[in-house]
Amino acid sequence: MSKIIKDHPGVYRFRCPGCDSFHIYYTNEENAAHGYQGGQWQFNGDFENPTFSPSLLNRWGKEADPNWHDSDVINTKAPKGGWSGRCHLFVRNGKIEYCEDCTHDLAGKTVDMIEI
Ligand SMILES: [Zn+2]
Repeated sequence: MSKIIKDHPGVYRFRCPGCDSFHIYYTNEENAAHGYQGGQWQFNGDFENPTFSPSLLNRWGKEADPNWHDSDVINTKAPKGGWSGRCHLFVRNGKIEYCEDCTHDLAGKTVDMIEI
């Protein structure tokens, strides 16, 4: 059990209770492993009290693409909160700090990370 899972070198996954799904950080370590620059996130290397910086923004549906149409999706269950949404957060010291611009119920709140 830990708060984050290392899927590949430099690729880390954690459970987001706001979205009820996983989000992924791609760190500089991952970029270095693949020989290219432009790394995005820094990780402090602590699996119990992880800190990543800067913030992580996930957008989907209309939040990501103004031309999105829910009716284009077939045979798939809508995610919690619907087909369009935004999740913007900081992972700091083992907690998830949600920004006010999230579209889910945890907007503006800070919660403990989930053991996975
Ligand atoms: Zn989320």
